[in-house]
Amino acid sequence: MKDYSHLHIGVLALQGAVSEHLQQIEQLGANATAIKTTTELTALDGLVLPGGESTTIGKLMRQYGFIEAIQDFAKQGKGIFGTCAGMILLAKQLDNDPTVHLGLMDICVQRNAFGRQVDSFQTALEVAGFDSPFPAVFIRAPSIQHANHPQVQPLASLNGHIVLAKQHNLLACAFHPELTPDLRIMQLFLEMC
Ligand code: GLN
Repeated sequence: MKDYSHLHIGVLALQGAVSEHLQQIEQLGANATAIKTTTELTALDGLVLPGGESTTIGKLMRQYGFIEAIQDFAKQGKGIFGTCAGMILLAKQLDNDPTVHLGLMDICVQRNAFGRQVDSFQTALEVAGFDSPFPAVFIRAPSIQHANHPQVQPLASLNGHIVLAKQHNLLACAFHPELTPDLRIMQLFLEMC
């Protein structure tokens, strides 16, 4: 396996699925930290925005000064990986919600695009560049309705909606790669960092 021991990756730890991401980062040999204050961002090469409830995480981000701090972090070219609610936080446009949070990525995102909690499911997903499908767990997942910039690279789609996409240093994923033992999407992010 490649050596990622030089990388310091944070997981925003205000609400949501934090520990599973920390574990995957450590399994790949990088250093993982749960981030609770903006000052902790300076030491990082990359940041994961976990799944959870985007309205709650967004509120807490505003309260603790994370909106500007993470926007600055992105401007420095550092990697940001948003999963599920994290994808919603990254989007510049939301299809069914007036509240844009970080507004960093040129995507239009629909919240709960695959239905409610009871409609959660797992599927074998074809991902660009992977030689076998990825076991993707969708939990009240959003999707990318459309990209608003040619620099957005769709990497996986389901039912005609983009569910994994990259734009420079930003990676957005509609499902929960941290809930499966498959480390390939986290590795893809570490490569970007
Ligand atoms: N539906 C949630 C939201 O809109 C996201 C769900 C998730 O992160 N698993 O924030």
